[in-house]
Amino acid sequence: MPLTTVQQTRLQEDLRGLIKGEVRCDEVTQLLYATDASILQSRPVCIVCPRNIEDVAAVVRYAAESGISIHARGAGTSLTGESLGGGIVLIFSRYMRRILETGGDFVTVQPGLLRRRLNGIISQSQHRLFGPLAGNVSSASLGSILARNGAGLHYLRYGLPSDHLVSMTVILANGDLLTLDRNALIQPLQGDGSVALAQEIAYGKEYVYAGKVARILDNRSNKQRAESANRLFICRAGYAEHAVLQGESAQSVDLTRLFSGSEGTLGITVEATLKTVSLPQRKSAAAFFFNSLSQAIEAVSIILPLRPVLCELIDRRRLNLVREWDARYRPLIPSDAEAALLVELDAGTLESPICTAECRDRLKHLIHLVQTKQLCYHALRVNTEEDFQLFDQVIRRSELALGRLHSSIQPVPLFDDVAVPLNTMSDVVNELLPLLQRCRVTASLSGHVGQGHLRIHPLLDLSQSDAMSTLSPLAESVYSMILRYGGTISSEWGTGLLKSQFVPQQFPHLFPLFREIKETFDPQYLLNPGKVIPLETNWMLSFRRGLEKRGHTPPDPQWSSGSRLAKSKPLQGETPPDQVEIQLKWEPAYIFESAYQCNGCGECLRFDRQSRVCPLFRGTATIEFAPRSKADLLRGILENDIDLETLTCGRAKEIADTCFQCRMCDIECPSQTDINVLSFRSKAAHVAAHGLPLHDLIVSRLDNILNQLTPVNGFFNAAMRNRSVRWFLEKTLQIPQRRFMPALARRSYLNQIRWSSLRHRLSPEQTEKERAALFVDTFDNYFDPQLAELAVQILEHNGFSVHVPLRQRSSGLHSFSVGHADRAERLARYNIAQMSDLIRLGYKIITLEPASASCLLKDYQHLPDHNDSGLTAENVFDFCSFVHRHHLLDKLQNDFHPVPYRAGYHAPCRGLAISASLATDEMPAEKLLRLIPGLDVQRIERGCCGMAGFWGGQQKNYRHSLQIGTPLFRALRQPDIDFGVSDCSACCAQMAHGSRKRAIHPIRLLAAGYGFLPVAALKQT
Ligand SMILES: Cc1cc2nc3c(=O)[nH]c(=O)nc-3n(C[C@H](O)[C@H](O)[C@H](O)COP(=O)(O)OP(=O)(O)OC[C@H]3O[C@@H](n4cnc5c(N)ncnc54)[C@H](O)[C@@H]3O)c2cc1C
Ligand code: SF4
Ligand code: SF4
Repeated sequence: MPLTTVQQTRLQEDLRGLIKGEVRCDEVTQLLYATDASILQSRPVCIVCPRNIEDVAAVVRYAAESGISIHARGAGTSLTGESLGGGIVLIFSRYMRRILETGGDFVTVQPGLLRRRLNGIISQSQHRLFGPLAGNVSSASLGSILARNGAGLHYLRYGLPSDHLVSMTVILANGDLLTLDRNALIQPLQGDGSVALAQEIAYGKEYVYAGKVARILDNRSNKQRAESANRLFICRAGYAEHAVLQGESAQSVDLTRLFSGSEGTLGITVEATLKTVSLPQRKSAAAFFFNSLSQAIEAVSIILPLRPVLCELIDRRRLNLVREWDARYRPLIPSDAEAALLVELDAGTLESPICTAECRDRLKHLIHLVQTKQLCYHALRVNTEEDFQLFDQVIRRSELALGRLHSSIQPVPLFDDVAVPLNTMSDVVNELLPLLQRCRVTASLSGHVGQGHLRIHPLLDLSQSDAMSTLSPLAESVYSMILRYGGTISSEWGTGLLKSQFVPQQFPHLFPLFREIKETFDPQYLLNPGKVIPLETNWMLSFRRGLEKRGHTPPDPQWSSGSRLAKSKPLQGETPPDQVEIQLKWEPAYIFESAYQCNGCGECLRFDRQSRVCPLFRGTATIEFAPRSKADLLRGILENDIDLETLTCGRAKEIADTCFQCRMCDIECPSQTDINVLSFRSKAAHVAAHGLPLHDLIVSRLDNILNQLTPVNGFFNAAMRNRSVRWFLEKTLQIPQRRFMPALARRSYLNQIRWSSLRHRLSPEQTEKERAALFVDTFDNYFDPQLAELAVQILEHNGFSVHVPLRQRSSGLHSFSVGHADRAERLARYNIAQMSDLIRLGYKIITLEPASASCLLKDYQHLPDHNDSGLTAENVFDFCSFVHRHHLLDKLQNDFHPVPYRAGYHAPCRGLAISASLATDEMPAEKLLRLIPGLDVQRIERGCCGMAGFWGGQQKNYRHSLQIGTPLFRALRQPDIDFGVSDCSACCAQMAHGSRKRAIHPIRLLAAGYGFLPVAALKQT
């Protein structure tokens, strides 16, 4: 039963008094933890981020006394609603995510640590890793990997996670703490309750529970034993009772086997010691392409005797989506392939590698076998390290690819994790395909077929009335068929809320025993209820509302027209706004689409260096700061899960403010969710209700303010060097004292041109030359006019006719960033009108900063009723991309003088976003600078610099901003780097501030190369 507001407040106060960690019961936070990557939703009553084991025990005891359920949660990317529930959600990924100890071949960790992060660290320091991957590559936490114990991608190489578990500490529903060690298995004494009690006093609680479990297992009926013996080794449904009794006479009890895979329903893991393995060698792999799915399945039986360590099936639909995702995959994946098998053979480990010749021969043999049977029509060897990277990426992206479907037909993850005995796989697929046809459902089929795993995704338009009624009988039919073949309803993901109702069907005899086990550890059903042992309610009731709206246009005029809510009720601690305008009026359909496009996959919860997403989430590991939360919030509002005016409360603003619109998630989100636009609209709603705070107002109108200040630039610059003035500005305007302030120019660049001999540049020219119009945004116009002038010189040197339109205004980038929607809209309309006229005259628009280009290219695109926004999108370039394009056409002047320096290049986030490049891709600026003789350009990829326009220029963000940039600063401080380079002036300012080395725009280096700037001047910049 839902708690009343008073009960919730009491709950929050009680828990805050009991623990050191964080407790939140507000409805915005509840909403952010109400969904995961599944199709279900359930709103928790309270969210707790424990700091230590004592916190966890205290919360569990409190919940037990109050009869509230507890749901452990890692990153919340389960596909079956495993960590969803209406009680207290325990978030481990916030504070309990440390490595506690590392040894030669083991590591002790807290449950919230992500597997990817652990492996990033120990593969560098020890050349080892935690092998099994039973979960989402990016975001699976170790607590959840153990809680699910799934056979994942690497099962053939490493086996199950529980095979790598040495010991674990768990907290039971009554607050008892058990330490379970596989090197010290328990041999319980036989006897009645008094014997057990004596044993507990003598040895501890572990013995009592081991004894109870041993008695349950001893009493198994023959039918139960038969069912237990017949289960697939990779079955992940029910409890793993079959693995508990160990030793020759099966007298030792291994409770770690029972807790592994129990989905947080028997106990909560608070610490675990895991075995690590030496890094694998990767030498022999191949990709096979087939004309039909059945041929691919048939080929599996030929491949398996060669004992592959990986065997993945990908179907046509996913292959096509992967090809479209990135041009680099196109030469690898034939466009007509109906299915592919990606196979890897064992090449040993770093410690004991298999010799290269043997690997090569085995691979040759494998390819020969598949080809002689005439099953595949094309085979591709994977040879180099680069090939292996692409091989891994294709597998990974094929898993995520269905999220890229933007139509109303969406994949429904309902039976996406079944497994069958290997010898039945062909028969299963041959029966499944006609079954789907009969139900008029198309589906995508893939999976780790080397271990019998199949991922079946029906593709349905859930807005159609018959789709929901198709779903339930379809699930029944598919599961019945899978079970008939001796398969399992789950081999990895667990059964969660979605599939637990089918557990009794799979284990009719063992199911009562599962109940007994559950009641032994959790008699009140408080730990993650509804998982493994199903609840009475139908899972359809928890169906995530709004799922059926993906890919559709908004049906509800209430919000689609941009509603005004007169006299909204004030929220706690807020001043009542007279009128709340929900700023959804900029292309409402797009907001709708973006909010529903996020499927919760967790790809944006990353910490590794191959990715930039999300700078604000990385340092804090707070889920509320992750891109996903912005979509969750908007979706909740659109669904009326929370009131419309909640969007204007402080907590919603806090969530929206944890996006500084760097646009990195644009390119890294597999579903292409536009988080940037969602956070802008949320901020705008707050501004509409409460107005802009002074700092944000200044940021938004900075161009106007600087225009007034240029005549008194001397006075302004002197004031900015004065400590007292800076102290005053910090206290009043939130401008940090310690932040270096660049000198304001005496005249803006546009004014300089107006009054100089270069006035002719102010009018468009009738000329045969290629035409470029310079867009000079606020920073360069007022603080760095020289940069604009150098850019013009470079362009003119390369044969362009350059026009500097006087009638241009700031891009509005800063108005977008603070949610000042009205001004952003005015500036966008003005600039589009000016630029489109020039474009029609044959001009390309060149910006000096990628951030300005990204604003013109992306932020302007959703302006309603403006046909010309598309025109600008095709004709706007940032400087380095434009000049590099010229170079590719072989038109660039190559008369560079030597510039004898070593520069560390940092790619700005918005630069990566506009060129749709991954963090590790080479950027146009880098390629250009490599043309300059003597200049050694080293790419430094250490993530975002933390400045993000004016975000880092606000006192409350100052420290966090430097913290984000610290890895970059450290790399720049290396003595062999002379200075930093970045094509964003804000990045340069931050790099110089953090590294105490100069950081310059590539335009200056190109200008020095062409001789427009003395090389020595680079040192003085
Ligand atoms: C695109 C995509 C691909 C995926 N691919 C795979 C795949 O190949 N294989 C696979 O197995 N899964 C896969 N998954 C499912 C999902 O990523 C995994 O289930 C992942 O391991 C979940 O990790 P998490 O930290 O998000 O766990 P959560 O969703 O937060 O929790 C999962 C379960 O673990 C329990 N749990 C978490 N922490 C603890 C703890 N400390 N103590 C006790 N119980 C705990 C929770 O209660 C819950 O039952 C995929 C998901 C996505 C979105
Ligand atoms: S924002 Fe994108 S990457 Fe993040 S959870 Fe949503 S769909 Fe996945
Ligand atoms: S735009 Fe940048 S800051 Fe905002 S959510 Fe995406 S990655 Fe994070």
